[in-house]
Amino acid sequence: MLRTDVVIVGGGLAGLALGDALERAGVDYQLLEARPRLGGRIKTGFVETEAGRAAFDLGPSWFWPGQPRVQALVERLGLEVIDQYSHGALSFEDETAAVSRGRGYASMEGSYRLAGGMSTLIDGLASQMDSDRVHQGMAVRALRDRGHIELLDDDGQPIASGSRVILALPPRVAAKLSFEPSLPVEAMDAAAGISTWMAGQAKCVAVYETPFWQEMGLSGDAMSRFGPMVEIHDASDHRTGKGALFGFLGEAATARAEHARAIQAAAIEQLARIFGEQALIPITVFFQDWATEHRTATELDAVPAAGHPTYGLPHALRNLWDGRLLFGSTEVAARFGGYLEGALEAAEQVVEQLARLTPRLG
Ligand SMILES: Cc1cc2nc3c(=O)[nH]c(=O)nc-3n(C[C@H](O)[C@H](O)[C@H](O)COP(=O)(O)OP(=O)(O)OC[C@H]3O[C@@H](n4cnc5c(N)ncnc54)[C@H](O)[C@@H]3O)c2cc1C
Repeated sequence: MLRTDVVIVGGGLAGLALGDALERAGVDYQLLEARPRLGGRIKTGFVETEAGRAAFDLGPSWFWPGQPRVQALVERLGLEVIDQYSHGALSFEDETAAVSRGRGYASMEGSYRLAGGMSTLIDGLASQMDSDRVHQGMAVRALRDRGHIELLDDDGQPIASGSRVILALPPRVAAKLSFEPSLPVEAMDAAAGISTWMAGQAKCVAVYETPFWQEMGLSGDAMSRFGPMVEIHDASDHRTGKGALFGFLGEAATARAEHARAIQAAAIEQLARIFGEQALIPITVFFQDWATEHRTATELDAVPAAGHPTYGLPHALRNLWDGRLLFGSTEVAARFGGYLEGALEAAEQVVEQLARLTPRLG
């Protein structure tokens, strides 16, 4: 069993940023990640090409000006920032699948991407941390407060214990864990009531030999009322020159699960309607349905939030187990909740909370 001061549950951006901050402050910590990979909602798909490895984001793609923490992390890790491609005309598909062009502007103009994909943030952070402290494939099922907090796996076996535990996972996913003694009903209700940002979404990414639409004067941006994708953007790989278009699926998560393959085929047909017949022959297609990932989404996320929720740490989630059990995913960030920036902000909030208890962090 791992014995430490601070146990971080979750190796997404928030958990890793927190681990990195604790490591630099010389605090004893262990990080437990359930999946066999780090990154959580950050996930990049790769294609080996003659020009090297091409990267395509299956979770977040962008960050934006005015997000200082991501900007600072990108600079510290020496990552290459690229502009979202936005030259050329926007395409629009109406409810009869008729396509028109030139109306409006590229909707993500001014957004930034990372060359090599968003997972370069995760790889960069992980490479600066002590690998003996970062454990993948270690799922926490239950927490038991015995003065120190014990964390148990699916078989009820203790896997770690610490004086404080940070739940760096979506509060709704955390509400599925068992707590002994049980947390107040208001805390469980508050956690379950926080919608996990983008958890109900699915992304389809079609990869091509070249970004052929760019030569046709099209930005790769499209809006559709016909579907199955409702919003499409250029996702081409900057380093290898491979083209890619990605779209968010419009259909509800419950309907998607039943016919994922048919949706993929329909998505390619849609790209051909909008961008021409060349779109019918992708090198590969990635289909990532986050609603089916139980480490990210619960059944409550099948219906996505209408608009961007107001996030932050609810009162009911403060001072649990005498302040030794803390929440720390993007959903609890005060200002940038939901975004990558919010994951970094949440890590910072936890460091501030811990500093009140552990002076050397101050
Ligand atoms: C399709 C999509 C598109 C997005 N687009 C953008 C974008 O363009 N820009 C942007 O800023 N944000 C975007 N986001 C949001 C962004 O991905 C999140 O803000 C960010 O990744 C959240 O990081 P996190 O560490 O807080 O949570 P997560 O990434 O969810 O990390 C939580 C971690 O906890 C782990 N975990 C869960 N249960 C357990 C358990 N029982 N035991 C141990 N570990 C556990 C999970 O496996 C996961 O690794 C998007 C998200 C999605 C899904």
